[in-house]
Amino acid sequence: MKADHALEKLIAGNQRYVTHQLVHHHQSSSRMRAIATGQHPFAVILGCADSRVPPEIIFDQGLGDLFVIRVAGNILDDAILGSIEYAAEELGTSLVLVLGHERCGAVAATVKHADIPGHISTLLNAIQPAVDRAKDEPGDLLDNAVRANIQLVVEQLKSSMPVAELVQHSRLKIVGAQYKLDCGTVEVLF
Ligand SMILES: [Zn+2]
Repeated sequence: MKADHALEKLIAGNQRYVTHQLVHHHQSSSRMRAIATGQHPFAVILGCADSRVPPEIIFDQGLGDLFVIRVAGNILDDAILGSIEYAAEELGTSLVLVLGHERCGAVAATVKHADIPGHISTLLNAIQPAVDRAKDEPGDLLDNAVRANIQLVVEQLKSSMPVAELVQHSRLKIVGAQYKLDCGTVEVLF
């Protein structure tokens, strides 16, 4: 599936979700059996682990449709990059959608310079460059930092080999989007 069509499918599914017209397709036992021996997901979603933003539900998709990677703050690391490369190179997925969301707790903790013990600091260190980028912008710092974080991850993906090469050859498209917690809408930003 071409990337533009994949994006249209996601947007159409989100419209069904927002307007309470979910079709729940690809969630039957026959679909389960049909894809038991192979997968061809049409989009990669790199989303936040936040319990309020489950990609299959907010895009009204089912089994075998989405290759979902979730981590607090929708950040990148080498394991996540490897997962994206696998989907693009081995499964033929043509679209990566980086999905941030309003009032993200991981971004909020970074904005507050929270001193949190353990491995949470790994997340905050990854998000800090987005907060630095947003801090001089007018408006709400958290809102701006959430958007900057999405933009930064899109940029990091586009400059990382071999993803960058796939993008250059039009085999992969990368977009950034934000989920709105109050209304359920996914807005494509970048
Ligand atoms: Zn979040």
